[in-house]
Amino acid sequence: MIKLAKNVSLKKYSHFKIGGQADFFVEPKNLEELKEVLEKAKKEGMKKIFILGGGTNMLFDDKGFRGLVIRPVFNKIEASEISPDDIEVKAGSGLLVGELLNFCVEKNLSGLEWAGGLPGTLGGAVRGNAGAFKGEIKDSVIKVISFNLTNGKITERKNKECDFYYRTSIFKKKGNNALSNKELIIEVVLALKKGNGENIKNSILEKINYRHLRQPLNYPNIGSIFKNVNIEKVPQATLELSEKEIKTDPFPVVPAAFLISEAGLKGKKIGGAKISEKHPNFIINFSGRAKSSDVKKLISFVKKKIFSKFSIYLEEEVVYLKP
Ligand SMILES: Cc1cc2nc3c(=O)[nH]c(=O)nc-3n(C[C@H](O)[C@H](O)[C@H](O)COP(=O)(O)OP(=O)(O)OC[C@H]3O[C@@H](n4cnc5c(N)ncnc54)[C@H](O)[C@@H]3O)c2cc1C
Repeated sequence: MIKLAKNVSLKKYSHFKIGGQADFFVEPKNLEELKEVLEKAKKEGMKKIFILGGGTNMLFDDKGFRGLVIRPVFNKIEASEISPDDIEVKAGSGLLVGELLNFCVEKNLSGLEWAGGLPGTLGGAVRGNAGAFKGEIKDSVIKVISFNLTNGKITERKNKECDFYYRTSIFKKKGNNALSNKELIIEVVLALKKGNGENIKNSILEKINYRHLRQPLNYPNIGSIFKNVNIEKVPQATLELSEKEIKTDPFPVVPAAFLISEAGLKGKKIGGAKISEKHPNFIINFSGRAKSSDVKKLISFVKKKIFSKFSIYLEEEVVYLKP
């Protein structure tokens, strides 16, 4: 019988090291355990449920969460040969991307090298269509299997049905018919190619080293706070100013980090949180004691400044969980 733990600190599960307690917390290892958890939640009359992955993109509130946090630790992985060159990998959503990459190196599988150093779980990566170095998880997804927490239905969606786009997918959609936080991704099937293990490993290490050089990884953080800005949304004068900075990843964008830097906001502190000087699209918990309110204030400060200077509305990439 799986037990729901009570009053669990979310700080421990947050890459930011910020967050109060969740009333209930559980880590099911498979679908049977997940179903058992939902039965219990129903019996106890729990209304609010939140799905957690690696907590690498999450801002928890200092007041915690008045509900149940489900952190699926579905970690099974298996590869099957489709042709001498093509390999299909079936992986559990709770698998860390780093563990998936180790598997790829071990089995000589190529296609995910761009994800070197990408923290978090496979489920989290699929939900937000994580990407870097001109790669995105959607490029390798064949299908995604998910479980609807409301009606218990299992759905298998082919890549095209997942509505992948820049840092989003059908699993992130909010509003009418929202799947966000309703469908828990349980398994992902990926298409990879046979490659050379040594080359794959070196390519992954290259990305990890690049991240260490460019990102403030010595401090608690949750990666890029804002999405980069599609050049179609950038006024002409700012476009001219940012001409040399435009990146095509996956379409032409002005990096949010460039705008924040141009606005002179590097190093700006509120309470225990600070805009990183090393990578201005990162907010770091430099003191180790930042409050969620410090981070929220810093985020709205940046948005206001960028809007007044460039007439650009920055959109958050990170997820804030209300208590
Ligand atoms: C240092 C650093 C560097 C980063 N670099 C990049 C980068 O290069 N590119 C990039 O795209 N992102 C990057 N990120 C952001 C983050 O790592 C990714 O968004 C990651 O994919 C999130 O996965 P997670 O498991 O940590 O999700 P979490 O942070 O735990 O959750 C994020 C969202 O996904 C949902 N979720 C998680 N698991 C599931 C599931 N199984 N089913 C349904 N919903 C789920 C949660 O409900 C939540 O809404 C970086 C973060 C850090 C800290």
